[in-house]
Amino acid sequence: MSEIFISKRELETLYLKGKTSKAQISKILKCSICTVYNKFKKYRIRTIKEKFIIPEIKLKELYCNKKLSATKIGKIFKCGRSTIESRLRKYKIKMRDKRVFVPRNKLYKLYWIKKISIDEIAKILKMPRSTIYCKFKQYKIKIRSVSEARMGIKASYETRKLFSKLHKGKGNPMYGVHRFGKKNPFYGKCHSKKTKKQFSISHGGTGIPGELSEYGPEFNKQLKEKVRDFWNRKCMFPECGIPGAECLTKIPVHHIDYDKMNNCEVNLIPLCRKHNAMVNKNRKFWEEYFTKLMISRISIKKIQEI
Ligand SMILES: [Zn+2]
Repeated sequence: MSEIFISKRELETLYLKGKTSKAQISKILKCSICTVYNKFKKYRIRTIKEKFIIPEIKLKELYCNKKLSATKIGKIFKCGRSTIESRLRKYKIKMRDKRVFVPRNKLYKLYWIKKISIDEIAKILKMPRSTIYCKFKQYKIKIRSVSEARMGIKASYETRKLFSKLHKGKGNPMYGVHRFGKKNPFYGKCHSKKTKKQFSISHGGTGIPGELSEYGPEFNKQLKEKVRDFWNRKCMFPECGIPGAECLTKIPVHHIDYDKMNNCEVNLIPLCRKHNAMVNKNRKFWEEYFTKLMISRISIKKIQEI
């Protein structure tokens, strides 16, 4: 490997007379800074300690009058914060106290009452985040848990979609879990009077629990069987069609006009358990829907009989 030739004279004129730095010399001679250092060692050229020239008057003006921080002054003179601080000590310029007083009440109000995050508090008080954390520790202010911090914030549409996708089928924590009998968390308990009243109102009643729970005497096994046969023993909810045999019990029979005393055959229709519960809401719509279904079914049957 060929060695780059740099003469001692060349270096000395550049460095001592020209007052160029080692980095600049390396650029002029198109070699690495290491090579320049090695040549200096080889030729035993005494290096001058490179110092940043920071005049006292200018530093005083920037620090005391313009109230600039040590970091900002460092940027002006292209040196670090510590250099500026050491110069301040050297020139005996009194350094400002970095500690800023923030009362505990103010922090507590912003964080726990106005529910502002630590990041935002740091922006408001113009302080670094870490300082705010230290103040919290010092004042023994409790920091919100993740669930507390998320309170009142609604998840975005995408997040909700993702969760619903993840919790479908086998992803659902209740997948394959059956809680019958004593395993049921509601075993041996019953609803309060208030809840029963709410149930009654939401199910079309007047608020008296159990007022509509009695069926007429004609609503017996034979009648139910007759209705099931008439509808081919299938759930008549749109796009369901579960056959009666597949249902856990015999397919339940639903009253179209929700009147349990009206046990006319035209008012009865089989619905599986799930859909029987479902039609308790939106009653007007379902009454209309099943009435239309009943009319069309009867007319088809009549044509078939002819
Ligand atoms: Zn069904």
